Amino acid sequence: FKQVMPTGLPKKDVTTQLGSVELDIDNVDLAGGVLTRNIACSLDPTMRNRMKGNINYFSPPYQVGKPVTAIGLAEIYRSEMEEFKKGDIVAVWDLAIEEWSVRSKESTVTFRKFDPLPGLSITTYLGAAGMTGMTAYMSIKEIIGDLKPGNTMFVTGAAGAVGQMVVQIARQAGVKVIASAGSDQKVKYLEQELGVERAFNYKTADFNKELAAFGAQTNGINYYYDNVGGEQLEAYINNAARYGVIVGCGYISGYNAEKPEDVHYPKNLFNIVTKELKYQGFIVSSFLPKWMARFLQEIPPMLAEGKIKVSEDVTFGIDGAEDAFTRLFTGETEGKVTVLFDTE
Ligand code: NDP
Repeated sequence: FKQVMPTGLPKKDVTTQLGSVELDIDNVDLAGGVLTRNIACSLDPTMRNRMKGNINYFSPPYQVGKPVTAIGLAEIYRSEMEEFKKGDIVAVWDLAIEEWSVRSKESTVTFRKFDPLPGLSITTYLGAAGMTGMTAYMSIKEIIGDLKPGNTMFVTGAAGAVGQMVVQIARQAGVKVIASAGSDQKVKYLEQELGVERAFNYKTADFNKELAAFGAQTNGINYYYDNVGGEQLEAYINNAARYGVIVGCGYISGYNAEKPEDVHYPKNLFNIVTKELKYQGFIVSSFLPKWMARFLQEIPPMLAEGKIKVSEDVTFGIDGAEDAFTRLFTGETEGKVTVLFDTE
């Protein structure tokens, strides 16, 4: 699963190329490392930002001609290291999107022991109980703190991996949620399955009008969980309550811009001053040491008991990985996107 530095929307066979090489799994030289059989990986919008080559980003840029990497799970097939033995399952921060990987001893620093979570599938381990669930939970705890029942929250990208978790955490705290997503089907899911007070399709709705109506009773909307940036961020700032809090999680509306000037930045930032808003960005990995124990105590059990619902978009086989990655940006994904490799 390789790529050239793309512009615009990712495209199968252009942005990335799937290929095959001969590998003698029983004899390939491991040079003191391990051979893994890869089981599954997560696909995340932020991977698009790592295809930009020169930007200063928290994860290093991908290299043209080298495999794209993602968070995933693998089984140790052969090992020349004491720490790992055949059959061990490891969670890998930088799993190459390939079926088999030879890893040097040094590069296994990103391997962690896989601790299965009772009652949860491995795709949920990679999503709601994994990085995207942690993103939602930990950023709310750290940036907003205790959610106040009766307050209002706007959530964008609300039917996606992070968004659906945010929506449910907020609703369980008694916060009234207005959510946006890019299709009528997702709007229906948000209203009927996740029970948000109001949802709208941002591709067809007048979102300034939606937000103004929703925030009328709280003198504006108290919180904004921002997965997308752009015009919806601008609309929130217009409709924010005094002392409103913006959790700056992502800016997907700009990830595929052909030119920097194509990214929409709010033109009303002075309202951050006049309404005394807090706008804080974050990278989830910074929160792990502080919040992991509480996250594990609270969220996986609720997932296992069905108290938090998850919608998942699982692709079977590496052949579908490129399409699944592209669909993240066309809005055709339905919930958390993962790929299960063919390990039969
Ligand atoms: P999702 O599961 O939400 O998938 C992406 C979704 O984004 C698509 O399905 C689509 O849904 C929506 N989308 C795509 N293009 C646009 C656009 N131009 N404008 C508005 N919406 C768009 O992804 P995640 O939940 O994994 O990620 C959500 C956000 O959180 C991303 O911005 C990501 O980068 C960020 N993130 C940040 C982290 C951090 O540490 N700060 C960690 C993890 C994620 P729709 O049909 O609604 O348009």
